[in-house]
Amino acid sequence: MNHDDLRYGNLKHMQTAWSEATPGVVHASWSGHRTACGKSVVEAKPVYESHPRDITCAECGATAVFDLNTAREHARAVTEKYEASGAIRHDFASSFREEAIEAIAPKAFEMRRNGESWNKIATDFLLIAASGEDGTSRFVGKVGQAVIDALEESEFPEGY
Ligand SMILES: [Zn+2]
Repeated sequence: MNHDDLRYGNLKHMQTAWSEATPGVVHASWSGHRTACGKSVVEAKPVYESHPRDITCAECGATAVFDLNTAREHARAVTEKYEASGAIRHDFASSFREEAIEAIAPKAFEMRRNGESWNKIATDFLLIAASGEDGTSRFVGKVGQAVIDALEESEFPEGY
């Protein structure tokens, strides 16, 4: 996933793009050379003809319609408390945040596009990833909920 400073305000610089690696899939690119999911671009539409509704790659779509940096910040607020208590290490915290975003954001993009509610997204996540009563499940659940809340807050409001 692309870690550049991409906020959905940057949609005005977004190009829908294609890669030879994934025939028929519509990606998003900000450089014109690489898709947000890291593939080489063979063809890209001009910015003025590019709209998030045309993106079919869930990872690129999530990068386009959510502010992933806000999600990182929200998740960091959770992991820093665990770090401060000595429960987890700093390097684990940062890699876990990224893994959580990479797992949740594309899924949220797909579910929102299918008309699912944020409540449904959060409920599914907790059932799948954090259904236990133990400390690990609580940690995963808190980080995931923080990410989901941030995606909801930062969601591109004009439809996709
Ligand atoms: Zn992509």
